[in-house]
Amino acid sequence: MNMDITQSTMIELRDAIAAKQVTAHEVTEAYLQRIAALNDSLGAYTQVFAERALQRADEVDAGKVTGALAGVPIAIKDNLCTTFGRTTCSSKILEKFESPYDATAVRRLEAAGAVILGKTNLDEFAMGSSTENSAFAPTRNPWDTTRVPGGSSGGSAAAVAAGLCAAALGSDTGGSIRQPAALCGIVGLKPTYGLVSRLGLVAYASSLDQIGPMTRSVSDAALLLDVIAGHDPLDSTSADDDARGEGVDYLDTLGQPVDKLRIGLAKQYISDANDPQVNAAIDAAVAQLREFGAEIVEVDLPHTEYGIATYYIVATAEASSNLARFDGVHYGHRTDKPEDLIDLYAASRAEGFGDEVKRRIMLGTYTLSSGYYDAYYLRALKVRRLIKQDFDQAFTQCDAILCPPTTHPAFAFGDKTDNPLAMYLNDVYTVNCNLAGIPGLAIPAGFADVDDHRLPIGLQLLGPTFSEARLFQIAAALIGDQPAPLADYRLPG
Ligand code: GLN
Repeated sequence: MNMDITQSTMIELRDAIAAKQVTAHEVTEAYLQRIAALNDSLGAYTQVFAERALQRADEVDAGKVTGALAGVPIAIKDNLCTTFGRTTCSSKILEKFESPYDATAVRRLEAAGAVILGKTNLDEFAMGSSTENSAFAPTRNPWDTTRVPGGSSGGSAAAVAAGLCAAALGSDTGGSIRQPAALCGIVGLKPTYGLVSRLGLVAYASSLDQIGPMTRSVSDAALLLDVIAGHDPLDSTSADDDARGEGVDYLDTLGQPVDKLRIGLAKQYISDANDPQVNAAIDAAVAQLREFGAEIVEVDLPHTEYGIATYYIVATAEASSNLARFDGVHYGHRTDKPEDLIDLYAASRAEGFGDEVKRRIMLGTYTLSSGYYDAYYLRALKVRRLIKQDFDQAFTQCDAILCPPTTHPAFAFGDKTDNPLAMYLNDVYTVNCNLAGIPGLAIPAGFADVDDHRLPIGLQLLGPTFSEARLFQIAAALIGDQPAPLADYRLPG
């Protein structure tokens, strides 16, 4: 065996295992070793299932497990339910929670032969943009360990970027796949709402949440989406299979020319407030697309500026309702010596939830309360519709919109923790995609020089609902199918 396992893409590994150039056992072992060496200082995984993973790998080697991902080692964000290990959402309230069932996306991965290495760290209940809100420990950005990996899927992003798994699943309610993907220099897709079943994804804001792939190459993301997408009768918001398009295979469009495509640019996403290197990446991509013969058109998304306010009303309202179940009785940590029933609920929740989660429950409860419902929640729903209509209108003029996923490269730990609003504003280029239910794909776009550090920056492609195949096609035209480089991260000393 002379392949460098942890440098390989998911598809390369799958093919090498199938061709018996390497065993699934060797592949899993290589990742477990790298995790053992690096995870303590990165904090990407909160649980590693070494024994179970090796057992699964042996089953692949014995031909008992087959499929499109046979033997491929994958990490799972720890807000996805698994019957093995715990499902903690990086919250103290669920620290000991063992799920009685597997999320559909997890079940589909395993049915395709994937080897699940472990569960990755996140902002508590996926609320955050830096993974600093994890109740356990922050995750570090493998490109510069003094900086955040983004969030909330920061553990998954760091694991992929540091070669601690071949690919990972994340979840994205307002940017939690695309923003950490951009800040860690990998590929991340927020699928069309309804394309991937949410069964077993611990709900944050149910009308916005989606599970999606985080990978090092565009084709890996396409394959991973192929495996996890599809109708699930157990999720009432799951789209019918024909919504995706008859026979659409996300890998098929890769490599197809983009010369007939119209790519939209919206002035609302190109601002002087962005890091100039972020804007330069857009300019370079535009030049490249023009060279390929694509047409660049200007589109207008006039309600963009209301996105953050709208999102933080809708998301917190839904969260306040979804998180009511964690009360020490139905689910979660129960306080030791409650004085009475009310105290049992109150103290269990006070002890179990972190500050940001409490802040959001209070915000959401307030905007849903009688007297404020019309002024906040209902109005936010109306603005949400206007934001959706902006996109509908724009997509009559173009096939996809090119924009940055973030305003800046990764920020330093603590930079925004004292100022929730600054943290929320960080999501300015990602939340509208969720509000509109459309797909958004973040891809690596090289590096910015910041204080003598090379930090990844990304590009984002937004498209109409169920246009994932087209987004992959444009992404592949822009960055080819070279895997994103692994972070040149070394253990200190
Ligand atoms: N940063 C956003 C929030 O805190 C998005 C999180 C997410 O997509 N899960 O709500």
